[in-house]
Amino acid sequence: MKMKKKTLDQIRRQITRVRAAGGFYAKRLKNIDPEDIQSQADFEKLPFSEKADLRDAYPLGLSAVPASEIVRIHSSSGTTGTPCIIPYTKKDVEDWAELFRRCYEIAGITKDDRIHITPGYGLWTAGIGFQLGAEKLGAMAIPMGPGNTDKQIQFMKDMGSTVLCATSSYALLLAEEIEKRKCRDRIKLTKGVIGSERWGPKMRARIASELGVELFDIYGLTEVYGPGIAINCEYETGMHYFDDFLYFEVIDPKTGKVLPDGELGELVITTLQKEGAPLIRYRTHDLTRIIPDDVPCPCGRKLPRIDVILGRTDDMVKVKGVNIFPGQVEDVLKDIEGASSEYQIFIDHENGKDKITLFVETPLKTKKARRALEKTIKDRIKSVINVGVVPMAVEIGDLPRSEKKTTRVFDYRY
Ligand code: ZN
Repeated sequence: MKMKKKTLDQIRRQITRVRAAGGFYAKRLKNIDPEDIQSQADFEKLPFSEKADLRDAYPLGLSAVPASEIVRIHSSSGTTGTPCIIPYTKKDVEDWAELFRRCYEIAGITKDDRIHITPGYGLWTAGIGFQLGAEKLGAMAIPMGPGNTDKQIQFMKDMGSTVLCATSSYALLLAEEIEKRKCRDRIKLTKGVIGSERWGPKMRARIASELGVELFDIYGLTEVYGPGIAINCEYETGMHYFDDFLYFEVIDPKTGKVLPDGELGELVITTLQKEGAPLIRYRTHDLTRIIPDDVPCPCGRKLPRIDVILGRTDDMVKVKGVNIFPGQVEDVLKDIEGASSEYQIFIDHENGKDKITLFVETPLKTKKARRALEKTIKDRIKSVINVGVVPMAVEIGDLPRSEKKTTRVFDYRY
């Protein structure tokens, strides 16, 4: 995507500011003169930053303002123990509320809605972001937080909640509990705003039909405000994001090269207005693509779009010289009739060549139907991912399930 001139100005200003502030980016960019950033190509030479950098800056090394300007901190969990602390100024908090308000608006939510918020409150940015946006919109926020299903359903009925904000797994649990209690007719929900975890299209369809609501994927991460930086509209052509606040790039996670629009890779975010903790070329490790803008969204918004998050780029494997992401395989399978969402990829080295076997569960029973399905899968994977696979259709339930994160790729080459 071509960078706007205004974006380039915003980036130059931000670099000037972080260099003057001391802290992490002053060190990282000490040899960069903002005036040397005159084009998108110049910008794309700037170094990336990573979660590890943010952790190393613990506690407040990321801050680009005097401590007296910080009105709040949030923290994202670090798997290695040290958390990342993200400081917010008053303007950052207001901006986040505005971004979230826009998200609700894109989802068709208005001030007449009653927004039932189940994500948690606290250091984590989830619940409070949903609330700020609701209040800014002028809707009624119902700040439930997670857990206590009985109370959730009671409040949904009594308060007449019209919008449910939840993770996909909690939305599904609530849907099942409503069904169990046979009280669907007393629930007024019309929309679900679902964020924070990756969820397949099949789970999405289940939540939508069981709750009887229209669903919206909301995207965000604590390092960049929190949830509320991108959302799909009713046409589901990807998630619209706000390019006056954020600059998105998609890169090849191995080489760091910026990819053309439409190609799948890692989302990299640069903040354009953040004061407390600006980020420059922050690697999210989220797998997505920028939706080419040659076909505008039917909603008429000029906002750019990214695809729904298809997984983490850390799961990437390189086979036959091609980068393959499990999320990408899943994306192809979801459009193939007869293929379920359960699959596994086995990579082997045979006769001096890499071989990919793709096991896919199917409800199809006859040998003929399964052979036809395998051929479709083979052709579709070849045309989309440009790699040859040997598909094997297997019975539903044949592939092992795991409680925790499902392993999709088994690499036996080494
Ligand atoms: Zn749209």
